[in-house]
This record gives sequence, C-alpha cells and structure tokens, in this order.
Amino acid sequence: MIFKSAKINAFRTWGLLLTMLGMGLMILGTAGIVFWGQTGKIVAGIGLVIGLVSMMVSLAIYFWAGMLSTSAVQVECPECRKLTKMLGKTDRCMFCHTILTLDPELATITSEQVKNKQVKR
Ligand SMILES: [Zn+2]
Repeated sequence: MIFKSAKINAFRTWGLLLTMLGMGLMILGTAGIVFWGQTGKIVAGIGLVIGLVSMMVSLAIYFWAGMLSTSAVQVECPECRKLTKMLGKTDRCMFCHTILTLDPELATITSEQVKNKQVKR
C-alpha cells in the first residue's frame, strides 16, 4: 500500500508511522522505569531520545510533504475523473493508483486515447 500509493500519500503514511513509533518508544521507555527500576531508567533514556528523534523526523517529513503539495500539479485523473495532485513528472493517482505522467515521452497512452477508451466502454 505504501509503495503503490501517490507520493504525497506515501509521505503522510511514513510521517504517521514515525510519529506512532516515536510515541510508542517514549511510552515504552517511561513504562520501563515502572517495571525495571534503575535499569529501566537507561532504557527510558534511550527510548526517549530515539522517540524524540523519530518524532522530529516525522515532523520534518510532514512539513516537507506540505511544502511539496503546494508545488504539486493538480490534474484530473483520466481513469477515475477525480482531481489528484502530482509530484514531479510521474506519480500515481491518489484514488485509483493509476500511474500518471506529464512527460509525453514516458506516456504509453495519451489522454485522448484514454478518453476514447472510456467512450467505447
Ligand atoms: Zn484516478
């Protein structure tokens, strides 16, 4: 799902996963103090640091995705007729995961051909 989705969605998924991981590590680290006492404090320290770093990274990814989505091109998907955002020259539709491209040389099918296909369907 992560590898087959639109780039913006993939960034959001990774951002969310890292946030969850960071929070999980911090909670686990804190729980370590309760269960293991003195040894738990070291585990908690490591957990807090890794958790914090992972949350900072996820924040950066979120911020980056936000910046990218403002520069993303909005196009109407020829397959499902929904408005989707594209990053770069090639990206997948956010809704039906069709690979879309702005580069005519990479395209295997033009938008006219897709329209004709839909008329015949
Ligand atoms: Zn689509």
